[in-house]
Amino acid sequence: MDLITSLAVSIGLLGGVATYLYLTVGTIQIWIGFVGWASFYHCGGGTDGLRNSIVANIFGAVIGFIALLLITQVNLGIPGILWASIAVAIMAFILVLSAKVEALAAIPAAVYGFATVAGYGLMSGASLTDVNLANPLICTVVSLVIGNIFGIASEKLAGVMKAPVSIHPAIDGGVKPGTADFAGGALSCKCDQNSVEVTIEGNSAHNHACGCTKCWKPAGAAFSLVAVVSRDNLSVTANENKLEIVDASAAIQRYACKECGVHMYGRIENKDHVFYGLDFIHTELSKAEGWSAPEFAAFVSSIIEAGVNPDQMDGIRSRLNELGLEPHDCLSPPLMDMIATHTAKAAGVLND
Ligand SMILES: [Zn+2]
Ligand SMILES: [Zn+2]
Repeated sequence: MDLITSLAVSIGLLGGVATYLYLTVGTIQIWIGFVGWASFYHCGGGTDGLRNSIVANIFGAVIGFIALLLITQVNLGIPGILWASIAVAIMAFILVLSAKVEALAAIPAAVYGFATVAGYGLMSGASLTDVNLANPLICTVVSLVIGNIFGIASEKLAGVMKAPVSIHPAIDGGVKPGTADFAGGALSCKCDQNSVEVTIEGNSAHNHACGCTKCWKPAGAAFSLVAVVSRDNLSVTANENKLEIVDASAAIQRYACKECGVHMYGRIENKDHVFYGLDFIHTELSKAEGWSAPEFAAFVSSIIEAGVNPDQMDGIRSRLNELGLEPHDCLSPPLMDMIATHTAKAAGVLND
């Protein structure tokens, strides 16, 4: 379920429950409850939104209640409408100025409190000085707080119903284990006719999810799935003329189909490169089953460069862990050790 649908179901469901409770329990007001509920989302949701919204709602209600008291209980001999206008002007000024205090900074949420206490106080005709649940201040504050609590409950319920974060369609339903004695197979590009075919002898290795912006990934996937094979075990077996190198200056020369854009393999030509001798492939391009399974996730933070909201990273990392793909912001520790060892040997720091 997408976010909007899950929120619609959640808020619809809880909205019904809230209405039943409000209409059966005392004098608390359903319409004020819904204002508090909206205020929770207006303040950004979550526990921070809940706190900021409730504090500002109550503050606004108190300010609005003082305005009501000034208007109805204080007589300075100023004509009614003029005195009401002056009282509201003063209290609204105080309400907005108080936003200089960080806890009271959610001005719209404070205005909701002010407006609802005034609305209920004026329409209900309830006594301002009796201390009971019908008292405008008490009724408004209780109704707003309950509304805010329904707000966070609906957010949590929507979170439970929402589909998990998509990593890659081939593994979103779980990572399938590979077959140890898998003999290899053919990879095909996405062209309907004259598709490029690359044939691999034997199984792939170091299969992983990669978050970099260079590796090919299918539409909608946050990560690509990349594995390596020995370059001696890879051969282009059909329509090689359709291949072109994506970026000749890159360390990995990625060969892509000119028509469908799919990367068929990546090759390193620099003999001094740590991964020289290995080609990079996407085993999802093969119909055969048994390729080595993805083992970890690399360059996870790089998906932000592809446009993923940084706020989603916690959810994405926990989803990767759920799938058994330990997230790394570069490569996995064994591969990082391999690179460092190679560099150390080249520099003469380490000997064979
Ligand atoms: Zn193609
Ligand atoms: Zn990559």
